[in-house]
Amino acid sequence: MSAIDSLSSLFSESAVFERKFPKNNSKIDVTEIFGANVFSDKVMKERLPKDTYKALKKVTEQGAPLTLEVANVVANAMKDWAIEKGATHYTHWFQPLTGRTAEKHDSFISPTSDGGVVMEFSGKQLIQGEPDASSFPSGGLRATFEARGYTAWDCTSPAFLKEDGGGNVTLCIPTAFCSYTGGALDKKTPLLRSMEAVNKQSIRVLRALGNRTSSRVTATVGPEQEYFLIDKKAFDQRIDLITSGRTLFGAPAPKGQELEDQYFGAIKDRISAFMKDLDTELWKMGVSAKTKHNEVAPAQFELAPIFSTTNIAADHNQLVMETMQKVALRHDLVCLLHEKPFAGVNGSGKHNNWSLATDDGINLLEPGKTPHDNEQFLVFLAALITAVDKHADKLRAGAANPGNDLRLGANEAPPAIISIFLGEELTDIVENLGKGKKASSKGQHFLNIGVDTLPSLPKDNTDRNRTSPFAFTGNKFEFRMVPSSASISGPNTILNTIVAESLDEIATRLEKAKDINKEAAAIIKDAIIKHGKIIFNGNNYSEDWVKEAKKRGIPNIKSTVDALGAMNTPETVKLFEKYKVLTKEELHSRYEVYLEIYAKHINIEAQASISMAKRQYIPAVSKFAGCLADTIAKLKAAGASSTVQKEHLTKVTGLLASAVEKLGELEAALKKAQGISEAHAKAVAYRDKVFVAQAAFRADIDALEAITPAEFWPVPTYAEMLFGL
Ligand code: ADP
Ligand code: MG
Repeated sequence: MSAIDSLSSLFSESAVFERKFPKNNSKIDVTEIFGANVFSDKVMKERLPKDTYKALKKVTEQGAPLTLEVANVVANAMKDWAIEKGATHYTHWFQPLTGRTAEKHDSFISPTSDGGVVMEFSGKQLIQGEPDASSFPSGGLRATFEARGYTAWDCTSPAFLKEDGGGNVTLCIPTAFCSYTGGALDKKTPLLRSMEAVNKQSIRVLRALGNRTSSRVTATVGPEQEYFLIDKKAFDQRIDLITSGRTLFGAPAPKGQELEDQYFGAIKDRISAFMKDLDTELWKMGVSAKTKHNEVAPAQFELAPIFSTTNIAADHNQLVMETMQKVALRHDLVCLLHEKPFAGVNGSGKHNNWSLATDDGINLLEPGKTPHDNEQFLVFLAALITAVDKHADKLRAGAANPGNDLRLGANEAPPAIISIFLGEELTDIVENLGKGKKASSKGQHFLNIGVDTLPSLPKDNTDRNRTSPFAFTGNKFEFRMVPSSASISGPNTILNTIVAESLDEIATRLEKAKDINKEAAAIIKDAIIKHGKIIFNGNNYSEDWVKEAKKRGIPNIKSTVDALGAMNTPETVKLFEKYKVLTKEELHSRYEVYLEIYAKHINIEAQASISMAKRQYIPAVSKFAGCLADTIAKLKAAGASSTVQKEHLTKVTGLLASAVEKLGELEAALKKAQGISEAHAKAVAYRDKVFVAQAAFRADIDALEAITPAEFWPVPTYAEMLFGL
């Protein structure tokens, strides 16, 4: 290498890590591969006898009971299809409270009398499984000795094949996971129940408003997924990333996101190769990956699918997260799903786009073109406003996790305060409806429900307010608080349930009313008067809003530990039991599990910090200090001045002494927290003592990083990780 070459390689972004990546030049026929690994409606139509197909449709679409006879035929067809595609195993794929998915693989083999095997899969095996549940969190819902858990086929989400890098093809059957007594041990069960609740109440409202054609209402979701990618070689050297998913140390890089040159920037080849593979894998499994782009922070990206039913969206989002992580490794990359992997630049979230759709294609949050459509839209909007205002604390709880505590309210993500953005025009309309006015100051004519139509609303106001946690975006709401690493089941279960309650109350009023239009107008008016305070169109990041929200009585719940409390109150129990979404025991078990998970996360972070300090940072800095001391001695012997070196040594050893003291404080706080047994007190100790001590300790190490030569620093820096792709 010439001197010029080595110099330029030093300055190029790839100086640290070689940029080699597998390039996939193959041409993809998307229509051919899309859904190729899904036991889809089309496949079922082709492969199932007509009667069975019809019977199964009744089960999935109308909730009719599934008979073993039907299940047997379906199972056999599914097995034949899977084997033709190379599958040897099947798994009941479920979603325990860890937020991830779980799978135990069983092969199709069954012994024959002559010592051989046949491939078998029965209806019973399809509809029910019995995995050992003892190692999944249950929060006391099931004692460890009662190991049995049951998985039950969720036939509303299609079975699919997962191909792994090891060459295995596995038939995955989406399932719900519950205890011997039927208590939900997973995220899917309550989600399905909440979808039923919102369906039932929506239909009542629609019927009362005169709709006779729709027979089902489904909550629809399109979750946009943000993520980071970093080079695997960097990742492997960071114990913090490996164990906790985020950097627990790291001085800021000279450059962050201030040039705003990353968002929607041209996608680098290496990332593009990853994205192509990712899309291909997702498309095969029927995940409708649609949009991909660079996000705001360096090394941050986003993937958005086309929306689907909440249930399928939740399953698919799990597949998206899992596939991102798998495919990244093939490219020598690691996908970070943590909410705040790097301090000082944006973190990741999930924008949970949500609406309600009828089976005959009506989006209930779409302002319509006729007076009747508008009445319907405004009634459903009133339900949303009421639900969000009444239950802001529960929505907040649904977005709580340790990673999000580092993000919410940090001038990059919505604050911890829930509010609704409606846009000026719609706000004007609803506010005037609330006041019973007929016209606005701008001369616009306002609604006389059932007679007039809404002025057509600009649909494209999505971008007008990026700071709102719950924004109306023309024909859906976008809940922007959801953590990037979490399952979307929790937030959507809560959303569906609270909306079901408002719709229930509205339906009851409408069903009793003599004049539907008058009552609809009164419902909207009452909702605005009582709950309009939740509407805020301004800058949610501003300090003024924090004050204003307090005045309005809107909760500002800053930490996970506090937020989770909302899921464990008598009021919440009453609500969730009324709509048969979660029982008191199930709610309480979740509360305990999530508190425990919080404490465990902070515990891991503290342990990783201590380990890195003792095994990497302190030895490295000591070594540097020793070198400085040697240099000073040598300079002295040579009769040269060593003032600069001495000053530097004093700075280094001073910071090191401070760091060691804070490390001691962290260790003491950790020991204390570990000794507490009551879940809430323990979580509080981790939040107020351990987390705080870790942050203080980090500050010293980061300051040391800034003054220690690169050759001594034991781990990759922010600059290397964020710009080394
Ligand atoms: P932006 O980045 O501007 O918020 P995107 O186009 O990236 O918008 O994402 C919007 C998401 O909203 C997509 O996943 C889309 O499928 C979804 N979406 C669109 N209409 C609905 C709807 N009626 N219900 C639920 N999600 C929807
Ligand atoms: Mg969005």
